[in-house]
Amino acid sequence: MCKPIISHLSFADDIMVFLKGDLQSLREIKKVLDTFGKHSGLRINESKTELFLLGFADNLANEICSTVEFNKGTLPVRNATVWEATRGDAWNLPGARSDRIQELHTLLARTQPPTADQGPDLVLWKHGDNDFKPTFKSSTTWNQIPTPKPAVQWYSLVWFQHYVPRYAFVQWQAMHNRLPTKDHLNCWGVISDTSCNLCGGEEEIHQHLFFKCSYNKQLWSFFGSYCWPNPPEDLQSCLSWIDNPSNDFARNMKTISRLIAQTAVYELWKERNHRIFRNRP
Ligand SMILES: [Zn+2]
Repeated sequence: MCKPIISHLSFADDIMVFLKGDLQSLREIKKVLDTFGKHSGLRINESKTELFLLGFADNLANEICSTVEFNKGTLPVRNATVWEATRGDAWNLPGARSDRIQELHTLLARTQPPTADQGPDLVLWKHGDNDFKPTFKSSTTWNQIPTPKPAVQWYSLVWFQHYVPRYAFVQWQAMHNRLPTKDHLNCWGVISDTSCNLCGGEEEIHQHLFFKCSYNKQLWSFFGSYCWPNPPEDLQSCLSWIDNPSNDFARNMKTISRLIAQTAVYELWKERNHRIFRNRP
């Protein structure tokens, strides 16, 4: 089922129209409303009409409003401060309507409310215990998250010293079974034909696309002629195969094998996309 898109809302004789934020869309919608006005007599009252623009610089917003001859509207949004959530020396919070808000209330109850003599509100990032700074660093912030998930077993298959970022990202999605393969698209109701574009036969699922497909078997065999005479049968077993101590690897061979696995997954996904979106046989 399609997600409904709200294009307009009507309240008695008031109407709100939502549109893409560009002048062309605005002109087209105004033209439709003018045409409707000519035929029905229900014209736009320009003195009561306002245009609300989000994400536009003031000068551009003014230019757009004057082009279509609408007044510029403003939304009643303001920057609240922590200070406003207090009364006297205590917190003054609305009733909690969810467990999360209740949790916040409990946490704040143990925190001293701010006072005017403490200075203005500031946004600070936690860098450690009792260490707050205005600078943001993603790795530091990540380490402050209390319960990071344990590392997955195949971690070093994707993220190793010489990984290629673009390839690793696709491989990481594949390891999580999250690439939008045709079986997923079918479940989401986007397509009905789930046959693999590489071999034209079986259903396109991750396991088929990267290992069972007759097309990619040729690719694995090609790589195998260099170092993989018996390629693994699924993504998860790649790592155990590469790390198997019985495999007699030369120096750097493990890194090269990881790069080959990463490249193979990326190139297979790229080829599959070319065939679908560029209609390439
Ligand atoms: Zn196939």
